[in-house]
Amino acid sequence: MDATETSPSPVNPTSPVTLPMALSPSRASDFMTCPLLFRFRVIDKLPERKSAAATRGTLVHAVLERLFDLPTGERTPTSAADLLSPQWERMVADDPELKELAEEAGGDEAWLAGAVNLLERYFRLEDPNRLEPAERELFVHTRIGDGLLLRGFVDRLDVAPDGALRVVDYKTGRAPGPAYEGKALFQMKFYALVLWKTRGVIPRRLQLIYLGGESQIVTYDPDERDLRATERKVAALWTAIRAAAERGEWRANPSRLCDWCDHKALCPAYGGTPPALPRVEVVEAAETVPGHGRPTVAAEVVVADPD
Ligand code: SF4
Repeated sequence: MDATETSPSPVNPTSPVTLPMALSPSRASDFMTCPLLFRFRVIDKLPERKSAAATRGTLVHAVLERLFDLPTGERTPTSAADLLSPQWERMVADDPELKELAEEAGGDEAWLAGAVNLLERYFRLEDPNRLEPAERELFVHTRIGDGLLLRGFVDRLDVAPDGALRVVDYKTGRAPGPAYEGKALFQMKFYALVLWKTRGVIPRRLQLIYLGGESQIVTYDPDERDLRATERKVAALWTAIRAAAERGEWRANPSRLCDWCDHKALCPAYGGTPPALPRVEVVEAAETVPGHGRPTVAAEVVVADPD
């Protein structure tokens, strides 16, 4: 995941803002968590501070992607650790501000040690020498209903000799508690729906690899009923988003996730005043990678399970 994406510039309230007819799992999750949070991110495009945990997550994701460039037998904890420094240097070259995060964490060495620890946990869960992923960092997209574009990035797609698909997502946080499990699975079912629509095959397995906390693998085998329900859910979400945009009503939905929200000072639920609401025009979305790349990890961290 790419935490190095720069925060977008806040909008000029006097100009109309376009709202593309598109949803990623992160943005859908934002709206489910708090419609006002969705507005702050998608309509107002307010900047958010970079998070150390999210940036380390981006670093680890990039190394796990590159690890499979190495031949089988050479995908070891040592070779993974060797990939860390050059990857970190590339990230800092793209965004020198990231260096401050490492300094706050006690310098480069301490910073990278945290990433090494996550990679070691990965090797306890899986042997990458026994895998040959079909795809890594795969951009997937499809349209449903009246043209809503569903899009996102799949960390890894494994294809068995019989054609069965396994969708894999790495999480550098810990596995969520039962109350938040559905949110992680929603993301995976969203990807499964897109893959089913584009490849004509329902993925046999959805696999979340949690590297934080107790580090564990969580799997789910979806069926057609699951994916049809996911499609209805996403379509209903988009109807609600469109209605909010037409009415200019973006409800605050306070929860304990507010402690991770960068926009609390502007939130009426906490005595704040949001910026003037611009006019919103809903437009068709292009089937390309949105913005500079992937949704920001910082965005995902705010809605992550704090357990
Ligand atoms: S502080 Fe909470 S209620 Fe307010 S916008 Fe952020 S997530 Fe929503």
